[in-house]
Amino acid sequence: MNLQEIRNIYKKNFTSNLKHSKGAINLIKKKCPECDADLEVPDDVISGEIISCPDCGMDYEVIVKGEGKIELKPAEIEGEDWGE
Ligand SMILES: [Zn+2]
Repeated sequence: MNLQEIRNIYKKNFTSNLKHSKGAINLIKKKCPECDADLEVPDDVISGEIISCPDCGMDYEVIVKGEGKIELKPAEIEGEDWGE
């Protein structure tokens, strides 16, 4: 590992720490496909994360399409235990 690489890593970490300490996370605005409520998803969300609509309670799986672009897919709840 050369000095340039170390500098790049340091810079990267420093920048992301700064971002978090300021709480400057951008929000991606989406509409709930079910009830049209406004959903705000942090732009550091990762694919596969589940978010819930605060209005209708639907769960959506986040699919990251690119920087600042996400898609919501209704989360499939598998193996749910209906019996009781
Ligand atoms: Zn909703």
